[in-house]
Amino acid sequence: MIESFGTERDDIQGSKFQKYKGKDGRTDQVGLIPFPDGKFFKGARCHFKERAFQCKSTGSKKEICCTHSYEQNRPFYRIATVVIVYNFVDKDGKQSLRDYTLLPWIFREAMYNTLKMSDKDFPLAAHDLKLTCSDEKFQKISVLPCKNSIWSGNAKLKEKVLKEAQPIFEDAIRGIGADLGLIDIRELLCVDEPGITDANANISLDDVMGATE
Ligand SMILES: [Zn+2]
Repeated sequence: MIESFGTERDDIQGSKFQKYKGKDGRTDQVGLIPFPDGKFFKGARCHFKERAFQCKSTGSKKEICCTHSYEQNRPFYRIATVVIVYNFVDKDGKQSLRDYTLLPWIFREAMYNTLKMSDKDFPLAAHDLKLTCSDEKFQKISVLPCKNSIWSGNAKLKEKVLKEAQPIFEDAIRGIGADLGLIDIRELLCVDEPGITDANANISLDDVMGATE
């Protein structure tokens, strides 16, 4: 849709990808919201070069993303979930929920395994989590289960949250890693096209020198 406007608009900016990040020394209470298929996580093996992109290798064939030499040529899992981050206020000495934010949360294998452990004794569907960040840069986050789940324990809130989470699910999936083709991956990794090198090798220097005389 094409709009017409002068210089009065304040809202013309790229839609920044927002995701959950722990802040140094801060504890957030969050709840995990399952994707429409009922699962809490979506993930893919990825590499990182300037940006995260999906690994193209299969069990039987290793592709250039894994065989080329660069720092992150070993694929790792990037896993996405959607969290509701609660915002509490003190009310007569008691914490009450003021509002909340829904955000994609993307992490690697270690956090997945921490959540998996927590789920065994405190199922994620019925327990919120307290996330405490001790290192913002490396997103070192410890996880403690809460007694219950605020969002899913209240039918009205649950319905509202599930509705509002729909576009966030899409953001979370997009945030896992770019789905690049092999040609784009070669370009990103600066792998020379063998075809071009071969063509150059066929031209002898004498021919070039002769042509300039
Ligand atoms: Zn790969």
